[in-house]
Amino acid sequence: MKCRHCRSDVSHVLVDLGVAPPSNAYLTKMALKRPEKYFPLRVLVCESCWLVQAAAYSRAAELFNEEYAYFSSFSTEWLNHSKRYVEDMTVRFELDSSSTVVEVAANDGYLLQYVKEKSIGCYGIEPTASTANAARQKGIEIVQDFLSTSLAQQLRSQGKTADLVVANNVLAHVPDINDFSNACRLLMKPNGIFTCEFPHLMNLISQHQFDTIYHEHFSYLSFGTVINIFAKNGLNVFDVEEIGTHGGSLRVYAQPSDTGSHLVSNRVEDLLSREVSAGMASTAFYQGFQEHAEKAKNEFLSFLIEQNKLGKVVVGYGAAAKGNTLLNFAGVKNDLIRYVVDRSPHKQNKFMPGSRIPIVSEERLSVDKPDFVVIFPWNISYEVKTQLSYLTKSGTKFVVAVPNLQIS
Ligand SMILES: [Zn+2]
Repeated sequence: MKCRHCRSDVSHVLVDLGVAPPSNAYLTKMALKRPEKYFPLRVLVCESCWLVQAAAYSRAAELFNEEYAYFSSFSTEWLNHSKRYVEDMTVRFELDSSSTVVEVAANDGYLLQYVKEKSIGCYGIEPTASTANAARQKGIEIVQDFLSTSLAQQLRSQGKTADLVVANNVLAHVPDINDFSNACRLLMKPNGIFTCEFPHLMNLISQHQFDTIYHEHFSYLSFGTVINIFAKNGLNVFDVEEIGTHGGSLRVYAQPSDTGSHLVSNRVEDLLSREVSAGMASTAFYQGFQEHAEKAKNEFLSFLIEQNKLGKVVVGYGAAAKGNTLLNFAGVKNDLIRYVVDRSPHKQNKFMPGSRIPIVSEERLSVDKPDFVVIFPWNISYEVKTQLSYLTKSGTKFVVAVPNLQIS
């Protein structure tokens, strides 16, 4: 296989998690009668440019169709994060009613609603009809399409360039990262800013976060690799921030290489040298990940089997991608985890892909008082424990499985 960025031959396997259905392919009761499509979940690393990337990928359209719609507004943490982001950018880049903000993968308008509130001009680009419609209901203009160079050229010729182009948690999801970066540059005004957020590969590997690997992710990104990819596509990185979302993410700031006038912050050099010291530009850094993933999986499985023998009730919390990766890698079904609780009504009464564990609303917990609740989104385990603290008086314990088994 050829590297998605530099076209070198890629053969070094970082991790192989077997096969699984797309992690957002929640099943209806009817769909349980039908077979599911499984895809290999293997991740490789390019030893020329160090882009960590999914092996064979299926067409994006297949992974992001209507049924798999994910509505960002159902996560309070994510809404708060987005609101703060808009506050910070408005102040830092002096955005006002004469400015334009474009969000790529605008989803249901979870972020642009805060831009609109400030009377700053904005529009979103979003391919999924159901989420695009939800955004329109908030009064936000949506161009319903996947962002590509040709779409960006079209928008540019219509004068729809922006002072701020936002792409939070989308860079890792695009199959053609070169075309996407180029498209973002085309959307920018000469002195425009592009910011993107993505989980930092350094944390993923050093903290063994193997459950953040799923089909919707085509790339797993280090800062150094992103700088190089952007540079090849006319973007100059001038700042970076390390933020807490998704187990440690980066927010990267870029400007057009030829026309941008922002000075490069010291934080750029600082993080680059930390990545180099961590060994990210050497093969050794990418070894041993498989063993860690298997160890965590085995510990989790042993725990579930043991509790099952003791007649204890174990349930899950958070019907999201992390849980699906873990459950399918471990081969867990609803004999070991009875159900998974999720707040989103779009997921309730459906079933987890692959494991086919039913998804229910939170009310079930106070009725059943389970012995253990496995929190799949370990990155927000503190918030979840606080939210579910009413269960502790009936003896419920909380479990996190990655990077290793923790019971509290
Ligand atoms: Zn490469």
